[in-house]
Amino acid sequence: MMIAEAVLGATNLSKSFNLTAALRGATLSISEGEIAAIVGPSGSGKSTLMHCLAGILTPDSGEVLFRGRRVDDLSETKRTQLRRDQYGFVFQYSQLVEELTARENIALPLVLRGKSRRRALMEADRWLQRLGIDSCSERRPSQLSGGQGQRVAVARAMISRPAVVFADEPTGSLDTAAGELVLSLLIESARRHKAAILLVTHDQTVAARADRVINVQDGIVEDRVMGRPL
Ligand code: ADP
Ligand code: MG
Repeated sequence: MMIAEAVLGATNLSKSFNLTAALRGATLSISEGEIAAIVGPSGSGKSTLMHCLAGILTPDSGEVLFRGRRVDDLSETKRTQLRRDQYGFVFQYSQLVEELTARENIALPLVLRGKSRRRALMEADRWLQRLGIDSCSERRPSQLSGGQGQRVAVARAMISRPAVVFADEPTGSLDTAAGELVLSLLIESARRHKAAILLVTHDQTVAARADRVINVQDGIVEDRVMGRPL
């Protein structure tokens, strides 16, 4: 039997905010290139889980592993570096830099990683074409439709060839048609570059596009694959 290697793992993660226990024991494992939907009611701890996995939040207890290496106890500098080098992010609202054009927003992650502006912009042009938004190249974020903005956000997340894309309700602010297009482009791009996706959604049709669905209930995550004998 082929066993896909885990790109991201967590054991028994807990996280509280004051008196609210947002996560109460989350254990899961995501394989290289796997598209996993995280579903659960509002307030069940989905975003907190994502933020702990991505190193944006430090869990109170438990461990986070990236390619078998513990990463939750790294210094803030090392975690920032890990996010920049290995992860991509797509949020519900595109969170683009208003002072930059769509093209410059997409190129930004490469510039931050030390690529020349010229080469970063050339790579951005490829992504603009691939995602069908080359006509938006010189527009500012406020001049984009919701769907166009999310396509720019997908391009920005993918341009640095991340190992994992964290997508928290990426189609949550879009109508059905625009949402389906953004989701298709995100999944297609991730498949092409063998990136795993953690896709938080409350939409069943969105979850149906994933390889696997992980349920979050009251801060508890049951990832059945973890407990199954291999
Ligand atoms: P979801 O993404 O599933 O809607 P969250 O992870 O955002 O759930 O929230 C889980 C619980 O933790 C909720 O009760 C929420 O109110 C609480 N929570 C999340 N973030 C914070 C925070 N920064 N400060 C205080 N409480 C928070
Ligand atoms: Mg959330």
